[in-house]
Amino acid sequence: MKDAQPRAIYLKDYQAPDYWIDTTDLTFDLFEDHALVTSVLGVRRNEDHGDETPDLTLVGIDLELVSVYVDGSELTAEQYILGSESLTVPVASRAFSLTVVTRIRPQENTSLEGLYKSNGMFCTQCEAEGFRKITYYLDRPDVMSKFTTKVIADKGRYPILLSNGNDIARGEFDSGRHWITWEDPFKKPSYLFALVGGDLEVVEDTFTTMSGKEVALRIFTESHNIDKCDHAMLSLKKSMKWDEDVYGREYDLDIFMIVAVDHFNMGAMENKGLNIFNSSCVLASPDTATDASYQRVEAIVAHEYFHNWSGNRVTCRDWFQLSLKEGFTVFRDAEFSADMNSRGVKRIEDATVMKTAQFAEDAGPMAHPIRPQSFIEISNFYTLTIYEKGCEVVRMIQTIVGKDNFRKGSDLYFDRHDGEAATCEDFVKAMEDASGVDLSQFRNWYNQAGTPVIAVTDRFDQDSGQYSLTIGQSCPATPGQDTKLPFHIPVAIALLDREGKALPLNEAGATEQLLHVTAAEETWTFEGLAEKPLPSILRNFSAPVRVNYDYSREDLVFLMKYDSDGYNRWDAGQRLATAVIEDLVSGLLKGEEAEIDSRLIEAFGVVLADDKLDKAVKEEMLTLPSQASLAEQAEEIHPLEICESRSRVRKAIAAAHKDKLLELYHALELKGEYRPDADDIAKRTLRNTCLGYLVELEDDSLQQLAEDQYRNASNMTDLRSAMSAAINSSYQSQETINSLLNDFLGRYKDDSVVMDSWFMMQSGSPSLGTLEHVKALLEHESFDRTSPNKLRALIGGFASGNMKQFHSGTGEGYEFLADWIITLDKQNPQTASRLMTPLTRWKKYEPVRRECMRKALERIKAVPDLSTDIYEVVTKSL
Ligand SMILES: [Zn+2]
Repeated sequence: MKDAQPRAIYLKDYQAPDYWIDTTDLTFDLFEDHALVTSVLGVRRNEDHGDETPDLTLVGIDLELVSVYVDGSELTAEQYILGSESLTVPVASRAFSLTVVTRIRPQENTSLEGLYKSNGMFCTQCEAEGFRKITYYLDRPDVMSKFTTKVIADKGRYPILLSNGNDIARGEFDSGRHWITWEDPFKKPSYLFALVGGDLEVVEDTFTTMSGKEVALRIFTESHNIDKCDHAMLSLKKSMKWDEDVYGREYDLDIFMIVAVDHFNMGAMENKGLNIFNSSCVLASPDTATDASYQRVEAIVAHEYFHNWSGNRVTCRDWFQLSLKEGFTVFRDAEFSADMNSRGVKRIEDATVMKTAQFAEDAGPMAHPIRPQSFIEISNFYTLTIYEKGCEVVRMIQTIVGKDNFRKGSDLYFDRHDGEAATCEDFVKAMEDASGVDLSQFRNWYNQAGTPVIAVTDRFDQDSGQYSLTIGQSCPATPGQDTKLPFHIPVAIALLDREGKALPLNEAGATEQLLHVTAAEETWTFEGLAEKPLPSILRNFSAPVRVNYDYSREDLVFLMKYDSDGYNRWDAGQRLATAVIEDLVSGLLKGEEAEIDSRLIEAFGVVLADDKLDKAVKEEMLTLPSQASLAEQAEEIHPLEICESRSRVRKAIAAAHKDKLLELYHALELKGEYRPDADDIAKRTLRNTCLGYLVELEDDSLQQLAEDQYRNASNMTDLRSAMSAAINSSYQSQETINSLLNDFLGRYKDDSVVMDSWFMMQSGSPSLGTLEHVKALLEHESFDRTSPNKLRALIGGFASGNMKQFHSGTGEGYEFLADWIITLDKQNPQTASRLMTPLTRWKKYEPVRRECMRKALERIKAVPDLSTDIYEVVTKSL
């Protein structure tokens, strides 16, 4: 499957290919035990590389070579060289036709890369390097080709045959087989190739583009899911309109298709004209999808659609540039979601992901810049750093150059590079050229890993009325990068007076200022102040950095009340809660039960009582920092102490504000038809947050509340929230919990997507989700060991989402995860590699757990023939 010792490839070694492939004509003959793939390539010598015509080497994995032809003449086995993962053919002319016939076995392909089967349906996943599991090819993104694809299959079993572009011809054979030919007029790299064959139903609609062209829109699913596609269709139309309005980008083919697939390693894939989606990211109906799923479907449909320009029309030159398409597209979908829903809450959610999970990645063994300099297995680099930090870097560019210039820059980028494979540098250059703003130093964000820290100190001189703010920056060492150059960090600030009003910072009266932090340390001075202000720093999370400023707890309570920036107002609450929970953790480690700082409990009371506060923001402010967030901020992680301390604070908040929580809970009840709009979502979420607090109390009537909500729920959001409240409560009877779980199972056992949540709620529950319980669920008839969604829900839900049981102290959780990684590595290395993340953070844990985690990693490392995916992560972690 690979070389004895997997080796790293480096960005600095990039070279353009020796040959281009101008045309790719594929024929797929699909059968029940194999598929025959005939590929006819129009190959042309790269004229930049001189006159000679070296041998052409194509890559291929797990292929059975049937025959090879050059310009129509078959080669004998002596004329080509067949390597374990390559095919080398001699070249005699500067342009020629190469035909390769291979046999593949989609039915046996459990890696879910290349062509495989899911629930009787043929489908593909080619990004990043899946196409090489279909045929021998120059499987690299800078080789862009015009694809024509003919698919032949049994008509009864596979009435629907799809590929990229427009369908141009079809026909039938007497044998009961039929064929369809698809032609994609746009050149694309092989990773954007897609094929689907199955017995599918379709939902159809149309969209008229800004130039008046009508585009057919089709969403395909298995027939029992056909009533769950309306939301995805609506989201698609909104996305198409938004990209025209905000970026001036129009869709280019006659048809746009989405197919829902159950077995899928990722969320969704932007193949040209034929997006393939994980079912969980496309299907939604009120009784099967939560509000969060509705929003997720909308965001992912938008993300993949936006790729048509940022990714497909302009693609990446090599995989080191992955963030070029992903960072920019995540930024585009984040802005779309902010426009469709609550902008303030979207910002808080995105910042939370950054500060909890991405900062942890930046501090861990796999830390890498958004443009990595090397990798062993590219599948390991579909990370929060590439996607989410990449998005923040694009956002900072917009902040620095301004919105209008940013749009000019994106227009210039698309104009310059349409139809090309581009680099991150091309993107930054277009922004620079369009805006006239120098981004030289800003480029350090592309080269350096790690989360920068800004240290802020201030001074006020009462006599002169002068206030000065000094900001220093530093960035911790990361693997391979001991020292860092200063970043260009845009830091948005405001200064609040004693009444909480933001002071004017210039003559025009602006109350917010953007400080360009570029030096290791720098001071800004503000004149004419009557009293020492309180700084509000990094407003709207203007850069992905940590802020160190010595806020007192009174300061934080003050900011929670008065800061006009929604993000900072929320962040002040999170800082205060973190400090208070840390007190309790330190107490426990000393064997004491420390007192809970009453200022936090009071501040939560103020938030609860604030009727003017936006409900969605209020809900965010009432949510304590997650266990993962507390772990990320701890010097040394003590899991059980974190769980216990956080739980104590939740109980104290519930006890102190029971009446108000109950009042809100009742007041927020929605009657009438379910609507997944921002207003109703905010009400439901806040109400369910109140329920979550109320069941923390030992009070039968409150426990009954959860059960009643479950029994009476008219939508999945209320149903699942009630279920979670019940199974996470220490005071709910086991009888009730079992009865609810059985009821849920009875209702949804045939709905694979909903069943994922049934597994996940249990695996993540601190009381119910013990290792024994998780092991028992593995044997459940609804569990499917070949489904990445199920594996993520049960094993991932336990290892990443259940701190108390996974880190119980015996080390059994780690051994369990290691066993699964070793097993899954043979079946599906990508999924195995992603499930391993919790173990890679071993160095941050207290000594006993640290040692157990290290041993589990050593055991994985000792397994012979590891995939490159696992090999890279395990060796870098140790
Ligand atoms: Zn993407």
